Amino acid sequence: MVIEWEKMHTIISDRELIQSARKARERAYAPYSDSKIGAALFSSGKLYTGFNIENASYSLSICAERVAAINALLDNSKDFQKIAIVSGDEKFPYPCGACCQFLSEFSRDMEVILVNGKGNLEKTTLKELIPKPFIFSE
Ligand code: ZN
Repeated sequence: MVIEWEKMHTIISDRELIQSARKARERAYAPYSDSKIGAALFSSGKLYTGFNIENASYSLSICAERVAAINALLDNSKDFQKIAIVSGDEKFPYPCGACCQFLSEFSRDMEVILVNGKGNLEKTTLKELIPKPFIFSE
């Protein structure tokens, strides 16, 4: 889902980003783990959301962060600035290694906001979560 404002925004409040992630989380498909995650990505002045989608063949499941990133990429938006990731669990929903690597392809400096089910918030950066991502070299 792409939310477009009438004007492009250069910044977005954490609150607004978290609200969008919470709304996306409601649509998560997680019948196996029952762990629903929502993500909202701010990129190139627009907001893109995603939620985790599980599959009976577990390895085909995809995380909310990558769904949000793919939504942005489908819109040719690659300037990832900030992402909010929201869970319903007590633990903070740190992005997995695959998502960190995937996001780092487009932005090394993006802000990452984690919100647990109690509404507690932790702020970090992608660089902190994955200081040395894999880089393709010929
Ligand atoms: Zn992931």
